[in-house]
Amino acid sequence: MDANASETRLPGRCLCGAVTFTAVPVHGMHACHCERCRRWSGGVYLGVDCGDSVEVADAGTLATYGSSDWAERQFCRTCGASLFWKLKAGGMTVVSAQAFDDPSVFAFGSEIYVDAKPDNYAFAGDRARLTGAEVEARCAGET
Ligand SMILES: [Zn+2]
Ligand SMILES: [Zn+2]
Repeated sequence: MDANASETRLPGRCLCGAVTFTAVPVHGMHACHCERCRRWSGGVYLGVDCGDSVEVADAGTLATYGSSDWAERQFCRTCGASLFWKLKAGGMTVVSAQAFDDPSVFAFGSEIYVDAKPDNYAFAGDRARLTGAEVEARCAGET
């Protein structure tokens, strides 16, 4: 655990408010177009990597779904809000940007799994756009 004196914990919550948390972002926001994120979130998952910094006020308010051998997804037991994607091995928890009280503070840095994106939508603007193979070459992938 880093005890970084300059860290700023950002607050967030689920739709119904049963889950409240704070977290410290380590990167800007990315969009994941993979099928699992789209099915899970009901849209495009906009996530912010917060390392191991997420602190949930009451862990009993969360349910967990193992979506792959290496990752799991956590959501509110009451309202079902999609909240956290976590590496089972630790070191990386991606938090839904929309769950933070102020989602506007995150720079929109990249889009991943662009090859899995349906053709009927696209985000405007210039940023890194990586295919699933490119993401998986860089890390374990977010699926
Ligand atoms: Zn909830
Ligand atoms: Zn994804």
